[in-house]
Amino acid sequence: MTQPRFALPETTAYALRNARVPRAFLGGPAPEGAEADADGGVLLDITVEAGRIARLAGAGGGAPDCPAVDLAGRHAWPRLVDAHAHLDKGHSVARTPNPDGDFPGARDATTEDRTRHWDAEDLRRRMAFGLACAEAHGVAAIRTHLDSQEGGPLRDQAAVTWAVFREMRAAWAGRVVLQGVGLTPIDAYATPYGARLADLIAGSGGLLGGVTRPTGGLHGGALAEIDALLDALFRLAKARDLDVDLHVDETGDPAAASLDAVARATLRHGYEGRVTCGHCCSLAVQPPEVAAATIARVARAGIRIITLPTVNMYLQDRARGRTPRWRGTAPVQELLAAGVAVAMAGDNCRDAFYAYGDHDVLDTFRAGVRILHLDHPLDRAPALVGPVPAAIMGLPEAGTIRTGGPADLILLPARSLNEVMARPHPDRIVLARGRRVAAAPPPYEALTGEVAPW
Ligand SMILES: [Zn+2]
Repeated sequence: MTQPRFALPETTAYALRNARVPRAFLGGPAPEGAEADADGGVLLDITVEAGRIARLAGAGGGAPDCPAVDLAGRHAWPRLVDAHAHLDKGHSVARTPNPDGDFPGARDATTEDRTRHWDAEDLRRRMAFGLACAEAHGVAAIRTHLDSQEGGPLRDQAAVTWAVFREMRAAWAGRVVLQGVGLTPIDAYATPYGARLADLIAGSGGLLGGVTRPTGGLHGGALAEIDALLDALFRLAKARDLDVDLHVDETGDPAAASLDAVARATLRHGYEGRVTCGHCCSLAVQPPEVAAATIARVARAGIRIITLPTVNMYLQDRARGRTPRWRGTAPVQELLAAGVAVAMAGDNCRDAFYAYGDHDVLDTFRAGVRILHLDHPLDRAPALVGPVPAAIMGLPEAGTIRTGGPADLILLPARSLNEVMARPHPDRIVLARGRRVAAAPPPYEALTGEVAPW
């Protein structure tokens, strides 16, 4: 039996009929007459005009007379949002591997790779590769952290990296939205370099970021000066009107409690709703009453949490010759139950912190649902890779399918969330502004300038 090939009408106005859209992506109530199925999937006719969604109606509800494709109940998702990535580290694993796959090894290998290789040309090539992967997989926006610790004697790494970031953001505008966060061990903000970095970030339209561990140190234990260091960071952010995005408690040590300190600092500085925290692993291994008190404070401070499940599974609880006993992830279900905005993102990609990945948010979603048990029912899970990360990035149109929004879609050969979850879907069809994105993920040879054999 031959299958019909998918062909998008050539016209600027067309309809996608019988598209099944997870309710979590609608950004509001379903159109009248559209009923949700058991997974929260809503059967819709989507009318596209000049690259935008002109109309959403219940399937068969009298869509305008224009060329149409019948999706026959297959899923239509928005292009997805990766609110926590590291494009500057990506695709360095072959030349500077992490010998043991653990956190200290990742930190040391990254320092070596950065010191040896990260000139503008190297950053440009690896960042462009990552962006091309993301675009092909249907990613609309990426927030990337950028290593910004004070440079060594030979180069000012932050200046080099942020210049390449600004160049890439401009070059990819209209294809993948890029945001940058300055990443440095938090003690830098108590030194004169902290103010210089904050100025560089402000001049680049970025966010103030950092990691709640000391330079050269690890997450874990209680960082004695954490309150003073956070005060220094928040003062720099406030003076420049910068939002804050931190790497917090990426450890299974229950004594690590920076998240509560960040929540207190957020409230102390009146920065509610402007702070995002990634990882927050130790929260899952603290006594329940301690974790509950922190979660309540996080909710009160309007802190958004980003869980990075694939990288947590890789780094946490790793010891050579011993099988890991815990998953390493933040207590996402408890955070959601407390009303905290939680997004899921990819984090590292083929570097010393995570050896795998392809900047594919759908792949992260499929893994993350399994790791975090965000299923049974599945209906709320899609929000973690669509509207929630879009709101964290301040992109109200991204990650949703709504009237007036961009026709940025992923069409999947799956009729239920179970079928979405079951296969990796390299056969997905990505639309940007209503037109098909023809790009495929770049060949690995593009990283080394070699010619791909096919
Ligand atoms: Zn990260």
